[in-house]
Amino acid sequence: SAKDQGKNRYQFFNASMDEQIMLKTNLENGLRRAIELDELSVVYQPKMELNSKRIIGAEALLRWKHKKYGSISPSTFIPLAEETGLIVKLGDWVLNEACLQLKKWHLEGMDDFSVSVNVSTIQFLQKDFVGKVENLLIQADLEPNYLELEITESTMMDIKLVVAKLEKLRKLGIKISVDDFGSGYSSLSHLKNLPIDILKIDKTFIDEIENNKSNAAIVSTILNLARNLSLTVIAEGVENEKQYEILNEKGCDQIQGYFLSKPMPAAEMITMIEASSETYTR
Ligand code: C2E
Ligand code: MG
Ligand code: MG
Ligand code: MG
Repeated sequence: SAKDQGKNRYQFFNASMDEQIMLKTNLENGLRRAIELDELSVVYQPKMELNSKRIIGAEALLRWKHKKYGSISPSTFIPLAEETGLIVKLGDWVLNEACLQLKKWHLEGMDDFSVSVNVSTIQFLQKDFVGKVENLLIQADLEPNYLELEITESTMMDIKLVVAKLEKLRKLGIKISVDDFGSGYSSLSHLKNLPIDILKIDKTFIDEIENNKSNAAIVSTILNLARNLSLTVIAEGVENEKQYEILNEKGCDQIQGYFLSKPMPAAEMITMIEASSETYTR
């Protein structure tokens, strides 16, 4: 019951250090076995191109349903996976799933659809990362230009380590997107030197864009910058019609967020696309 849940939550926050360590160890062990136990899945959140009002792709997002604890949020288990190195195994699993799903969509007639996959720093910095991605593309028989990798600003801080790798990926035809853009500390001169394709404006700048002049100004600045550098811009976390209209007026290329749709199982995507083409292209 809700009362019991409340009680458990109370106990969790009041747990002793020993108990917290136990819980963390439990989660870590659980995560280690999550793939074999078939507890992981991938959901997809659609992206809309504002010019055409078409759903042109989706972002793959990992989900974990623990046998005992139920659904655990990525904001809990992704940091744990990064801390323990498990993110490499999980990240490879998501990439494989997403490539296979995308190939299915292409075969089902959604032949222009693209999918983006989040990549953690540790995963990206692996020696054989580019080779792995290349193999997955070959195995899935997928055209590389429909795959996007979402990397954060913090991954790209060490320019020497990163540029060569990004260039190899782009040479394969893969698109590179900077996730949560604006929330990190990368300078504009840094950005100029990076071989990237897409800026994904962080949700914190989209929040309150309809009321907050500084957020609106920041978004306009990012759009100008992107135009000058020939980058595509997508706004994440768009939650209402007003925000959608403002981004449309400002000339943002794409949007993503609950206003359009929450992340969903792959099987629901085709229905979503058909419904949206009736809603937006009337
Ligand atoms: P992210 O890549 O920035 O993904 C956006 C997050 O915001 C997702 O949360 C998404 O469900 C949520 N979101 C999207 N639109 C809205 C909106 O309109 N309002 C609100 N309030 N939220 C919205 P999620 O799925 O819980 O993922 C959280 C983070 O976990 C992701 O942030 C990403 O950093 C990480 N993550 C998720 N899946 C993976 C993965 O497969 N690999 C890696 N390395 N990280 C992942
Ligand atoms: Mg992302
Ligand atoms: Mg993001
Ligand atoms: Mg984010």
